[in-house]
This record gives sequence, structure tokens and C-alpha cells, in this order.
Amino acid sequence: MEGLFISSGNQQQEKTDPAWWFIFRDRKMLVTIDGDKATVPLLHGEWNHDLPLVRKHYIGTLDGTDCYAAEVTKETPPPEGMVFHGLWGLFGCMADEFHRTALRAMHIIDWDRTDQYCSRCGTKNELKIGERAKICPACNALSFPRISPAVIVLVERGRRVLLARASRFMRNWYSVLAGFVEPGETLEDVVRREVKEETGIDVKDIRYFGSQPWPFPDSLMVAFTAKHAGGEIQVDGTEIVEAQWFEYDRLPDIPGKISIARALIDWFVEKHTKRRS
Ligand SMILES: [Zn+2]
Repeated sequence: MEGLFISSGNQQQEKTDPAWWFIFRDRKMLVTIDGDKATVPLLHGEWNHDLPLVRKHYIGTLDGTDCYAAEVTKETPPPEGMVFHGLWGLFGCMADEFHRTALRAMHIIDWDRTDQYCSRCGTKNELKIGERAKICPACNALSFPRISPAVIVLVERGRRVLLARASRFMRNWYSVLAGFVEPGETLEDVVRREVKEETGIDVKDIRYFGSQPWPFPDSLMVAFTAKHAGGEIQVDGTEIVEAQWFEYDRLPDIPGKISIARALIDWFVEKHTKRRS
């Protein structure tokens, strides 16, 4: 699989080709599990199973194959031999681009469920033809899937990296710092503000690293690296329980491979490991 996804909201007519179906029940996706591999249903033509669909969206093509996102009611049992499984746990069980398409499908289904009515006048929204949008037939207000940008930043100090334990972490792990963008802020502003607020550290040399859609529920994580410019660690004790500078080869428990937080930390470790060898 090359993993090229082309987004499209244009429902084509008279489908006969096979299509991938990303079907959700209460934010869990219908899959067949075989060992450590998970697959979503590949069906010919229209949805023809007994599962009653609450909503359905054509979302585009993945390597030329049509993709649908759909939802069934909370009471719907999975078909024989299949299960509804959380997306988080399916990472690594399918090709990365497949998993990303599943995240995209979940985000679109969430949006469709949430934005059924116009937020301005309360009239029932209609789908806008040819766009991933809804339009209110009474006041013409548009609604789009909400995407909330959040910044995530790895702060370096030579061979050491700033990692913090946040009170929201369920596990006892340390990670890089993160925070949501506030009105009027540039992404660089958020980097400086979050690091300062949460750890008392000033940063410089802010560089873009990469980004990751994170629809839990609607974030786009925008990752940066930065360097220590001044200040010593002082945590607020509420959001951040503890923060420390860790040597690259003596790290505590860190987040799993799925997250861009981990990609940042891996990048830092690799950079220093290479330098030594
Ligand atoms: Zn309206």
C-alpha cells in the first residue's frame, strides 16, 4: 500500500467497485481481528449488511479505493466474527495510512453527529454539496468539522531534554509539554507561553517539527523543538506535577509510539546517540 489518501465529499453514483467501510459504534470501529492484524470491511457497491446505519459519508479514496465513514446505533451488535474496537488500540495493527484514514473517518462522523443543528438559529443543518460542510437552510450559517490546534514542544538543553509529568496522564509517564492555542496567539507564542507557565523556563530557537491529527476529540497537534534560553524549573503543581531535565540515555517512562510526542523524543535520542557512535 502506498498510502495516498485523496479527500472528497462528492458522493459518486452507482458504485460497483469495492470500498473500504469505516463503521463506528460509539467511537469504536468495526474490524476483523486476525492475530495482530486488524482489517475494516471491504464491500462491493452500497452498504448491504443488516447493520442499520445512522449516518454515512463518502470521504474519498485510499490508493484509488473508495472509502466510507458510517455510524451504527449504540445497541448494534457486531456481525459474526467482527468486533468494535477503539482506534487507539488499533495503532500498529493496520498500515499507518489506513489508521490515519480511520481517524479522519471518526472525526467526520463525530462532526456529523455534533453539528446537526445550526449553532446560530437552531434549524436543522443540511449537508453542503461538494464541500465538507453543513449549511443552515434558514440563515445560511456554515459549519465545518472543528479542528483545535494544540502545540507540543520538546525543549533541549545540550544532552538533556525537558520532560514533565502532567496530572492528566493516567500512566506514570513523562512527556514533552503541550497546550492549546488561544485567540490571537501565533504558534510560537504558545510554545513560549506554555513552557514558561508550566515549568518557568524561557526558550529560544523555536523550530517546526511536524504535525499530527489527533481527533480525541478534534485536535491537530503541531510539534516544535526549542532550546533552553534561561530560567530554572518551577512547576505549577496543578497541570504539571513534576518536571525534570533528563539525559538522553536515561529517560523515564515515555508515551507510546502512536504519538508525535514520542516522535519528538525519539528524534532527540537518535540525534545524540548518533553523535556518540
Ligand atoms: Zn441557522
